Formats: sequence, C-alpha cells, structure tokens
Amino acid sequence: MTTPADRPPSVDKLARSIADVGLPHPMLVEAARAAIAAGDPGGARRIADDMARRTLRPVINGTGTLLHTNLGRAPMGFEQAATYTNLELDLTTGERGSRMATAGALMARACGAEAAIVVNNCAAAVLLVLAGLADGRDVVVSRSELVEIGGGFRVPEVMDRSGARLLEVGTTNRTRRADFEKAVVDPDNDVGIVLQVHQSNYRIIGFTEAPRTAELADLGVPLVADIGSGLLDSRCPWLEGGPPGWLADEPAARQTLDAGAGLITFSGDKLLGGPQAGIIAGRADLVALCARHPLARALRPGGLVLGALQATALAYLAEDGQAIPFWRMASASVDALTARAEALGVGVPTDTQSTPGGGTLPGVEIPSVGVRVGGDRRSELRNRERPLIARVVDGNTIIDLRTVHADDDTEVTAALTALD
Ligand SMILES: *Cc1c(COP(=O)(O)O)cnc(C)c1O
Repeated sequence: MTTPADRPPSVDKLARSIADVGLPHPMLVEAARAAIAAGDPGGARRIADDMARRTLRPVINGTGTLLHTNLGRAPMGFEQAATYTNLELDLTTGERGSRMATAGALMARACGAEAAIVVNNCAAAVLLVLAGLADGRDVVVSRSELVEIGGGFRVPEVMDRSGARLLEVGTTNRTRRADFEKAVVDPDNDVGIVLQVHQSNYRIIGFTEAPRTAELADLGVPLVADIGSGLLDSRCPWLEGGPPGWLADEPAARQTLDAGAGLITFSGDKLLGGPQAGIIAGRADLVALCARHPLARALRPGGLVLGALQATALAYLAEDGQAIPFWRMASASVDALTARAEALGVGVPTDTQSTPGGGTLPGVEIPSVGVRVGGDRRSELRNRERPLIARVVDGNTIIDLRTVHADDDTEVTAALTALD
C-alpha cells in the first residue's frame, strides 16, 4: 500500500516549487520530470539551476586576461530601446541608404581609410576580401603566415572556401620581397592580390626575415593586410599617456594603410574594444568590390552590432579611451589597482600579471594587482549567482582587479567573504 508520502509529487507542483530559478515554466517542468524519473524529486532544483547556468549571463572576469575568448573578448556596453532606426534610410535624401555605410564610414574616418564596410567578424572580412578581389585567381602569401588563429580560423582553409587559389612563397622563417615579386610577374600565375597575415598568436624568432608592408605595396596588385587585432593607430591618441609599452610591434590600421596597403581587415572585439565584427577598410574602389559581392549580404551584421560599433568609432574620434572598456582597463595604473585591492578588505593584495589575450600579443604581460586567497577556490566562485572567474597560481586563487570593473569590487568582496 502506498501512502501519500511515497507517491511521486505532481510534476506541476514540483515545477512551481522551484519557480524562483527564473526559467519559463515548461523548462521547470522538464527539470521536474527528469528529477522524478531519476527517483530524486529533490534534485529538480539542481537540474533547473544547471539549465539556467547554460544561458548567457554576466560574469566577473577576475582572470586578468583582458580579451578572454571564453568570456566574450572585449566587454562592450551598448543599449538600444525597442525602436526603429535609420538602418537603411538616408535621412537627408529620404532614399534607401546602406547599412554598410554608417558605422563603416565612421570606422574609415577613425583609421584614415577612404572607405570601410562591416561584416560579422574578421574571418568573414578575410573571406569576403578574397572572394571579392581574387575569386578564381591566385593570392600570394608567405609560408610564415599560413596561420591558424584561435577558434579555427585557418588561412589556407578560408582561402579554399573563398574560391581563391593559395600561392605560397618563401619559407617558414624567411620570406623576401623578391619572393612575392617573382610570383606576381610569373606569366603562369594570375595574381589577384598579395596577402599579409599578422602572426597574431605566435612569433617566429631567431633567423627570420619578412618584408615590411611598404615593401609589398608597389608590386602592381593590391596588397591586403589582415592585421587582426584592430589597433587603430600606433600612437594611441585616445590614451592620455600615449601608447603603452606592451603594444610593442602590433601592426596598427592607420600606419598599415599609410605604408601602402590597399585594404586592411581586423576584428571588432580585440584591441579595438568593440562588438564582435569584422572591418574591411582601405581604398574605396576595393571596398566597393567587396560590398558588391553576393557574399556580402550573407555576412552583414545587424543593427545592434552596427550601433555598438558606431559608439566605439565615435569614442575613438573623440579620442576618449576611457569610454572604451578595454582601453580603460588596459590603461589602469598599478597604483589605482593597489588602492582597490586594499579597499576590498578581504584576501591578500598581491602583484600579478594581466595579459591582453584574444590571440593577440603572445607573451605580453601587463603589471597588475589583485588579491589572493589560499587554495583552488575557482569552482565555488564560478558557481555563484554572478559567477566570478578566477585563476590559480602556485596554489593560490587570484582575482586580478585589472579586468574587474570597479563597480564590481563589492561583489568580489562578497564572493571572497562567502568562501570562509
Ligand atoms: C583574430 C584574427 C582573425 C579572426 O578574427 P575573428 O574576428 O575572430 O573572426 C583573423 N586574422 C587575424 C590576423 C586575427 O588576429
């Protein structure tokens, strides 16, 4: 005989009892069913919590990696009300406008290009440039630049998909202008463009040689430089103190165009500090060839991304690096971080090293300050309602404050206090 206590609880009742998890009722019902089926009705909340944890949510980045691929690269704040915009309307003429022209024009202005268009990411930008300028033709690339960038962007594979033919020149460690020249003038080849790809996430050191951008600019075919990270100007006029030392030799958009590149491509969410996007900038005629290609329609971003990128471009044009979260964090002084670490009132203030991350500037470390607590406490911190992502060094858990917004310091204090 079964007593009421032995009977499985009603699925619906159990689902309602965990309503505070905040998921839609049908998802809670699914969690309740799974828990009952497993003979553990009490586990419904944990199952629902797990479901909730698989939805996107804000996290606090205490890792010190400024462009953390797992945490969405550059943090970017942009809000838009549920309103129509002039996405494809020219307000001056009342005619149909181009979504490619708005944020693109501002980006072009910000990096000194004649024109620019925006697509979904830098991989898409490279794909569109190759398709638009070299479909069925040869693209000359140095063997030292046939790279794979995190997340599966492999230059030879993108080339393959674009319809362009890869023409490798030089060797893994040394390539000269003469190698490119030979390929371009060879009557057996049909060279559409010369492509330079920045070795974003690795370096070849030792017995090496590679032509500078300026040396490849007059070969008689357009030079395209995939600079990757989106550093707009090597002088960093948006930073009061000028360029930080750790930027070292990172190629910049303005200087690469000045050196003679016909087009450059870069990401929106690396050193540019904007939303995920890819920018194609340079000569107006070459940009137009890309914009006209049928693939452009498939690669175009939506209004939210274009709005966010426009806000980023306007911050650069105002030379206001503090308005760009990446640059605000990257340029925070060690003194300011030390003061914050001491003010937390929990954990031991500790010197540490931040890194740019995002597949940029390998090996670069930026002196930083955080707090440490003993042992590996990462999973407890990660399992909080507002997850705090930390790193373990020498048996201590470290929260690097460079990548934590100062407004979140109280939450860091709460998280660390809750540990003991
Ligand atoms: C990061 C990077 C890419 C890929 O950029 P996504 O925006 O992630 O698509 C392509 N080329 C270079 C040189 C890069 O550094």
